[in-house]
Amino acid sequence: MPQQHFIGAHTVDNGGLHMTALRAGSAGMRALQCFTAIPRFYGDKSSIKPERVERFQKALREAGIRPEHVVVHAAYVLSVATAEPDKWERAAAGLAKEMERSTALGVGAVCFHPGSATDGDPKAAAKRVAKAITQALKAVDGPTRLLVENTAGAGKTVGRTAEEVADILRHVPDGVRGRTGYGLDTCHLFASGWAIHESQARQKEILDEWEQTVGEAPGFFHLNDSEGAFGSNRDRHVLLGDGGIGAEPFRWLLADPRSRGIPLILETPQQNYEIADDDASADPYDLRMMELLTRFSKGV
Ligand SMILES: [Zn+2]
Ligand SMILES: [Zn+2]
Repeated sequence: MPQQHFIGAHTVDNGGLHMTALRAGSAGMRALQCFTAIPRFYGDKSSIKPERVERFQKALREAGIRPEHVVVHAAYVLSVATAEPDKWERAAAGLAKEMERSTALGVGAVCFHPGSATDGDPKAAAKRVAKAITQALKAVDGPTRLLVENTAGAGKTVGRTAEEVADILRHVPDGVRGRTGYGLDTCHLFASGWAIHESQARQKEILDEWEQTVGEAPGFFHLNDSEGAFGSNRDRHVLLGDGGIGAEPFRWLLADPRSRGIPLILETPQQNYEIADDDASADPYDLRMMELLTRFSKGV
């Protein structure tokens, strides 16, 4: 039996964290992504209360989503690639605190953007990112993995190429190396010049290149179409089929065995960001995306 597809989205959290799970469940999803704290802040002081954990886990059970298929997206400001010591300390502490909250929630993985090599030296930046990963994993024991996300390649951001991601992971010591890895965002791949839209064969070559260079397959995919043009380094997500990638490349991706058994997360626009706190219904855009992806998953 081949592994299944576990498709989900980063749903709206109005009404609390548990509502993300209920809304994903309403959309027929089997995976989920969420924030555990406000993503514009470091969150290095915010803990998670046991009642919140309990409510979230109960909602996951109701939704039929297994905790290992939940990804927590770390705050965007946790730029552990930075060369500024004060900022690095705070970002690394934020990442460790995120691991603490996410481990308490029992989720499968935390994903994060490594940020910018402010000194323009990607090799040194890779070491700083690895140091932050190592520190976070040593501070918090448990099954939750900490995964690097590839970037759209704007400015000096680290993690645009497979070599850069491999370089980060190479500096993580063996004892904790198994608890880290990486994930690929399709919009970021496209925007940073990986031609995943060109043909099925080309897309497979690209995934092969990542797998061979890093030494392992991705731990998750973010399924986003791109508003920005190919190679534009713009990080703007649109609905699958509405951007430069188009719908068809997502059919190819779901036909690749590497898309099975891991979270496949839509980070595409929601139609209703102002949904009422107690409204657990699915977002209409999410339903549309699920219809498309379910078709692709079945190979029709
Ligand atoms: Zn992403
Ligand atoms: Zn993005």
